Amino acid sequence: MNLTAPKQLPKNGMRITPLGGLGEIGRNMTVFEFGGKLLIVDCGVLFPEEHQPGIDVILADFSAIRNRLQDVVGIFLTHGHEDHIGGVPYLLKERRDIPVIGSKLTLAFISAKLQEHRIKPKTITVEGGGTMKLGPFELEFAAVNHSIPDGLAIAIRTAAGLVVATGDFKMDQFPLDNRLTDLRAFGRFGEEGVDLLLSDSTNAEVPGFLASERDLIPAIETVFRTAPRRIIVSSFASHIHRIQQVVDAAHAHGRKVAFVGRSMVRNMGIAVDLGYLTIPRGVLVDFKKLMNTDESKVTLICTGSQGEPMAALARMANGDHQIRLTEGDTVLMASSLIPGNENAIYTIINKLTDLGANVVHKGNAKVHVSGHASAGELVYCYNIMKPRAVMPVHGEAKHLRANGQLAIRTGVAENNVIIAKDGTTVDLVDGVARISGQVSAGLVFVDGQTVGRATEETLGARRQLSEAGVVVVLAIVDPATTTLAEVPEFITRGFIHDVPTLDGAAGVIEKALAAAKKQGRDDVEQLESAIAREVGRHIARTYRREPVVVAVVVDA
Ligand SMILES: [Zn+2]
Repeated sequence: MNLTAPKQLPKNGMRITPLGGLGEIGRNMTVFEFGGKLLIVDCGVLFPEEHQPGIDVILADFSAIRNRLQDVVGIFLTHGHEDHIGGVPYLLKERRDIPVIGSKLTLAFISAKLQEHRIKPKTITVEGGGTMKLGPFELEFAAVNHSIPDGLAIAIRTAAGLVVATGDFKMDQFPLDNRLTDLRAFGRFGEEGVDLLLSDSTNAEVPGFLASERDLIPAIETVFRTAPRRIIVSSFASHIHRIQQVVDAAHAHGRKVAFVGRSMVRNMGIAVDLGYLTIPRGVLVDFKKLMNTDESKVTLICTGSQGEPMAALARMANGDHQIRLTEGDTVLMASSLIPGNENAIYTIINKLTDLGANVVHKGNAKVHVSGHASAGELVYCYNIMKPRAVMPVHGEAKHLRANGQLAIRTGVAENNVIIAKDGTTVDLVDGVARISGQVSAGLVFVDGQTVGRATEETLGARRQLSEAGVVVVLAIVDPATTTLAEVPEFITRGFIHDVPTLDGAAGVIEKALAAAKKQGRDDVEQLESAIAREVGRHIARTYRREPVVVAVVVDA
């Protein structure tokens, strides 16, 4: 279906525009519009894949709201994961005083991140069960359980109806902090009548119910009981409960703990200060002090569980870190394996194994449970809330589709299950939600200090360079005749054929020059692009390779 820009929103209607997180795992961001005002829920980043070389992170495209930033009444953050908060600094750079609303931990994480960007946000702390009025939006928050503490779902009430967004959630019945997903609030919303539910789709294809975080205790315990030397644990720097379990096991086995890696040290400092992580006295030490400690008393907790090349674990695997792993060390990768990261993670597991470490991971021990509701939990949620319409969010196409099917099985009418894409606008009018159009929602690449400057074309050139290298043609041309004044020179990098074998290209260059002259397209830039094009074709014909060809024309 080819959609165009949506028509004007009826006065009593609400428009919901997901700008990220649909058709991908990451850069979650949804805009709610009512009465001329905008409420943003989450503003995350997406991490690049192998085919996006040189990209740091990918943002949602703000162009749909760029001219309306003054109408934004606030950004509500459901929880503190990067794929929900990582884009906030970039949005606030466009308008600094947008109020940022979230739970205590979420706001602590985003404030620390914003400090690195030298932004002091205007924040409003809320909690599960709390309500607030923000412009025309009546908001209510409900506690949800996830792989980071202090997550919140949000109910948004306007004259258009009641919309609920779960954020990332699951229904662990025995969470470490005893903070359950507030099913009673979900039930109350259901009694009131939910017109549209936006629900987490990440694990919609996984049948049944997730195990509890506490079910990991035996496997973690086994590691601490049997490891002969150091234990190195990798985890997300935000998975406070997983890290709590490791700290508790270390304490029980008389081991000291040190945090390694900037984000780990920063986040765990915040978690301890705010009371989300409890470390028994004397257990935590600076990791430099642990270098000379009895190795059977050492636990290091570091980042890099997804194979990120700059993180501590990858550097240890490459022998590129102060901490040198050897025979007898145990590495516990207490984390998920995010699709797309498999190769990087397996490479690290193999390198660590080669160094002599015993690597315990999700594939050989029960050391991880997901943070996202699986099918059983989602169905429960639908049955409790009885939404009139459902819009699956947070997932790739197959996850959204599977989540939609679950909603239909619980009795949601098929035409009220809205499978949208990034940029699809959905209008809720008189309690009925329907797709109304499409706004631009492309990928915005952050590359070093630049935002949105690298394009698909940039990445195409980078991929081409990485696959076939570069050939530079240096042509000295007589401007009077537009012919080669000397034999052209070729400089190559990453192109495997010998330079002399490019000799056949000289004739091609002469022909290109003659053709350009005939067409009167003979200024230096035009000659360079003609030469690059024809030499490129020549190489493709001759070698079946397509390097980047750059021509430099110098007057004789
Ligand atoms: Zn999350």
